[in-house]
Amino acid sequence: MIIGGVAGGMSAATRLRRLDERARIIVLERGNDVSFANCGLPYHVGGVIEQRSALVLQTPEALGARFGLDVRVRTEAIAIDRSSRSVTVRDLTTGELTTIDYDALVLSPGASPRRPDLPGVERGLVLRDLADTDAIVAAAQDARTVVIAGGGFIGLELAENLHARGIHVTIVQSAPQLLTALDLEMAHPLLVRAREEGLGVRLSNRLAQIDDESVTLADGEMLPADVVVLAVGVQPDSSLAVAAGLDVDTHGGIVVDEHQRTTDPHIWAVGDAVAKSLAGGGGALVPLAGLANRHGRLAADAIAGRPHAAVPALGTAVIGFLGLTAASVGMTERALRGRSIRVIHTHPLDHAGYYPGATTLALKLIVDAETDAILGAQAVGENGVEKRIDVIATAMAGHITGRGLADLELAYAPQYGSAKDPVNLLGYVDDNLIDGELSVQWHELEERRASGWKLIDVRTDGEYEAGAIAGSELITLDDLRARAESLRGDRVIVHCKVGQRGHTAARMLRQYGVTVANLDGGYLTWQAGRAATVDAVLTKET
Ligand code: FAD
Repeated sequence: MIIGGVAGGMSAATRLRRLDERARIIVLERGNDVSFANCGLPYHVGGVIEQRSALVLQTPEALGARFGLDVRVRTEAIAIDRSSRSVTVRDLTTGELTTIDYDALVLSPGASPRRPDLPGVERGLVLRDLADTDAIVAAAQDARTVVIAGGGFIGLELAENLHARGIHVTIVQSAPQLLTALDLEMAHPLLVRAREEGLGVRLSNRLAQIDDESVTLADGEMLPADVVVLAVGVQPDSSLAVAAGLDVDTHGGIVVDEHQRTTDPHIWAVGDAVAKSLAGGGGALVPLAGLANRHGRLAADAIAGRPHAAVPALGTAVIGFLGLTAASVGMTERALRGRSIRVIHTHPLDHAGYYPGATTLALKLIVDAETDAILGAQAVGENGVEKRIDVIATAMAGHITGRGLADLELAYAPQYGSAKDPVNLLGYVDDNLIDGELSVQWHELEERRASGWKLIDVRTDGEYEAGAIAGSELITLDDLRARAESLRGDRVIVHCKVGQRGHTAARMLRQYGVTVANLDGGYLTWQAGRAATVDAVLTKET
């Protein structure tokens, strides 16, 4: 028996059928639909996916015909009796209660949107299933203003799609940045793009009250809001498991072993309701579709007697937002605070600069300072973002080190990449750091300068005039050699636009007896970090 008929549940059901033609497989789904495309829901709101029917990937009848599954929609599992191995089930149409026995039970009940406890919260819409989508589409018909609480994946996707309908959207985000899957400076381009497109953003703020036609924020500001959407995270739907006495972690995620087996040997659990073990150690809820599908398959494998161990989760994720793509894998620098790490920022072109249409990426790599193990990576830009993160995620799965990225042989033609792909470049920079080159992060700069380090800008006169770090001295890279001797014995931070000329400058000065560090990611990373810090403090904007 399988409880939950969408991502994890249906993966388990269909895999099990492929492995065992004789098993009787019952799938219980309390909603009206099974196998719908949760991830596509925001795009139906915006009209990108025009037909609602395109989101319903399967029907109970089709699943019965092809896979011999007994799929029951509008049927809710309300209690599990582990001693008799049975589930009490309510038919939501008739209200009738029945009991169904199982030999093996798979739980894939997913996660529910959180509803903050505040006055008027009942007017807040959420987005989890097709019925929610219908409600948002209906509410958006005549709406002029929408306030979205939450600037994470679902909040941003909805913001983009409601904006596309010509509605004025304001995102209210409790964190000091959008998309906390990224670090502050990496998320900043999303904020810039939101502003450019005319969206309102309130950072470090939250809804305090929802009224009939407006919302009030924690700092007292009132915003008009014909529609309010709550996208402030999800909580695991693990109440059935808890009531049945299965172990859950501190976040309510069902505890499973590497074969997705719960603390009851006859019950497996997968998907958003489950606590995942992380590649970096420890556990967390990682509510992503790829993991739900993968773990659904693993549960079926285990039930069919061919167990495969789950690989710890990396949390690889991507989002499109107003023409930008942002993607990440592994841990953020923020989460790794206190650990000995090396951080690398680069700003390469997504493909060869001489081929038309090249755009700049911001890339970040975080490695363990001792072992060089890759701990995380982030990217944002217009093109080629997810490709780089997927390559790094694959490298992480294969235990390739940061330095090892330099040796990856990646497909290249000028319209797709560069002979030194941005991923290779990260490996080169890491290699330089392993080789003893010093770098300074954007957020470390002021402290270094206060302790006596000089800051030298090695860009051109024109670049300097267009914008420079206050108090920096301009010595262009081409003039630096002539001045190098005069810097002997000094402690100097060099910087250029992205770090590449800074690297050349650092190598040169080191040979003249200068203690030199390169500003990691150059002016662009410093600028993004500084602007993001200012935004984090100044919460109000139009
Ligand atoms: P679900 O797919 O949510 O399925 C659980 C089902 O169980 C539900 O239909 C529920 O009705 C049913 N159920 C619960 N309790 C019971 C019960 N007692 N009896 C019967 N039925 C029950 N992930 C990505 O990786 N990329 C994306 O782009 C992405 N976009 C998303 C966009 C949106 C709007 C949403 C909501 C999610 C998105 N996700 C995305 C997350 C992804 O959809 C989930 O990680 C995935 O669906 C989890 O699978 P699951 O089987 O655990 O839960």
